Amino acid sequence: MRYLIISDIHANLLALETVLKDAGEFDAVWCLGDVVGYGPDPNDCVALLREHDLVCLAGNHDWAALNKLDLATFNADARMAATWTQRMLTEETQAYLRSLPSLMIKGAFTLAHGSPRQPVWEYVLDPASACANMDHFDTKYCLVGHTHTPVIFEQTKNPGTCVAHVAQIGDIIPLGLTLGYPRLIINPGSVGQPRDSDPRAAYGILDTEAMTWQHRRVPYPIEETQSRMRQQGLPHRLVTRLQYGW
Ligand code: ZN
Repeated sequence: MRYLIISDIHANLLALETVLKDAGEFDAVWCLGDVVGYGPDPNDCVALLREHDLVCLAGNHDWAALNKLDLATFNADARMAATWTQRMLTEETQAYLRSLPSLMIKGAFTLAHGSPRQPVWEYVLDPASACANMDHFDTKYCLVGHTHTPVIFEQTKNPGTCVAHVAQIGDIIPLGLTLGYPRLIINPGSVGQPRDSDPRAAYGILDTEAMTWQHRRVPYPIEETQSRMRQQGLPHRLVTRLQYGW
């Protein structure tokens, strides 16, 4: 099976459409959460995703849009965008987002938005936080989003240590072979709001027959998303950050 692995779409419909086209043929989509929040098209993003064979996890911004968490934990811009999103969501979108699990196991893969230890909240940003999470899932591999940065963390043979492999775009990575000890936490990056100084939409392709992973990037019409955000009165800082990828 060939899976499209995506995360952190953040209601950026143009980025999502571009990724779906760029991915080529795939059998199913695994989405690691934060479908909504920040961007201008939350209902359309959910509807487009649901046209596919889809597994989707809940992210903290999906919960914020459902008023399931205290918005005081968000900064002012994120809070403003979350309350705007709450007003915009249709009942159908709300019902779908409410149905999303926060953790799921699919074969050799554990799926979570943030981390296996704290699925909705924790950021796996560095080898130390990756290592701390290795005891919190039983499968060989774990897929997470939330940081908006594509990366692979590998547990080394030396117990208690992990290394970070910076995403090499386009390389086909055999899981568990060239990377040695095969317990990995993999992050595909963000479709709709990348934060690694590369504004292109990020995603991953997982082939479970060949057991390979590929980090991919694709440019999308950022200015069009920005003008949609301005029309909706979304915060200026959220609009400008898209062009810089931070
Ligand atoms: Zn996010």
